[in-house]
Amino acid sequence: MIKIIQQREKCIGCNACVEIADYRWRISTKDGRCTLIGGVDKKGFFSVAVGDDELQDNLRAAENCPVNIIKIIPL
Ligand code: SF4
Repeated sequence: MIKIIQQREKCIGCNACVEIADYRWRISTKDGRCTLIGGVDKKGFFSVAVGDDELQDNLRAAENCPVNIIKIIPL
């Protein structure tokens, strides 16, 4: 298992993470920022625990996020 964490308020809506893992990321039509699908908000940091099968994609998403707001933590 891994935990994906996103500091959502700093998202610039660039779409990079969506292009890599559209099953986990989606641009919100409400504010143009990216939503971590399944994520739970804790003081602006959204997080979700997922299986290792999502590790590689989301590591790439984290590396490609231009504002560096995606973190991946092993559980
Ligand atoms: S890659 Fe980063 S800045 Fe771009 S949409 Fe995803 S979370 Fe937002």
